[in-house]
Amino acid sequence: MTASVTVRVPAKVNVQLAVGGLRPDGFHDLANVFLAVGLHDNVTATPADALRVTCSGPDAGQVPLDATNLAARAALALAARHGREADVHLHIDKDIPVAGGMAGGSADAAGALLACDALWGTGASREELLDICAELGSDVPFSLVGGAALGRGRGEILTPLAVGGTFHWVFAVADGGLSTPAVYRECDRLREVAGTGATTADVPDPEPSPALIDALRAGDAAALAAAVTNDLQAAAVSLRPSLTATLEAGTGAGALAAMVSGSGPTTAFLVTDAAEAEKVADALRASGTCRAVRVTSGPAAGATVVTPA
Ligand code: ATP
Repeated sequence: MTASVTVRVPAKVNVQLAVGGLRPDGFHDLANVFLAVGLHDNVTATPADALRVTCSGPDAGQVPLDATNLAARAALALAARHGREADVHLHIDKDIPVAGGMAGGSADAAGALLACDALWGTGASREELLDICAELGSDVPFSLVGGAALGRGRGEILTPLAVGGTFHWVFAVADGGLSTPAVYRECDRLREVAGTGATTADVPDPEPSPALIDALRAGDAAALAAAVTNDLQAAAVSLRPSLTATLEAGTGAGALAAMVSGSGPTTAFLVTDAAEAEKVADALRASGTCRAVRVTSGPAAGATVVTPA
């Protein structure tokens, strides 16, 4: 019997996040271009008498260890479909900032799903795993797939995208998190205040940017920088005005593009190469406008079983 299975799963940055109007069901249609980046959580599944979640890493204290943990929900969903107990210990070794707009919880859900499938020998097809991911949350399918992809619907209907090179990024982690639903509510509120209206009747359907998709395919960082957009950025900055200083610190240090990552409050800086990344990272650290700085690149692979190899 397999003693345990460890799955490594990446964080993401949204290089385009176009948000449509508020739907009657409370969701928003999105045109969401995801890029997986090289910050990872590791999820280890080990047989146990009952479902249990533990977490290690700098942000571990902010992660719920009960059945609301997305990794636990993933294990329960797979077990329910296959008529078995979710008798597993899930350990999350967490390196992805929590509540930072980098899909850390979604990553853990995808990691737990793949780890439990391997541990239990469930043999779920890729399609079934993606179905369960979509039930668990809009960003979970992408965490399974990795690379780069366009997400439509709530972000869960994925089309893989070609990436022609490595993109270098610096992430500035802010103190505390932002609630993703609160950021969407603020986006709606700002649209009402601006007089444009916030519903699907008022807001044009979100569309992917052809220039951005071309830039990814070409591996052209300058072209990507010119095309990145995040419709949630104004809302995140409105809830956390101090992000403006972080964004300015990165731009001042020569970043090609500075943006809020997803719903924030992590900010993302696209740079030309690894040397430039170190320069921008040093400037961000010196600025005193963020809690931590991480240097990485993308695309990164999706959820991958690392042990047993
Ligand atoms: P997204 O980018 O998908 O909007 P996020 O990166 O902003 O997500 P997460 O790190 O996924 O945010 O955490 C959001 C909230 O989800 C946390 O505050 C926490 O209460 C809850 N949560 C549930 N499971 C997990 C998990 N495994 N890891 C981190 N947070 C989790």
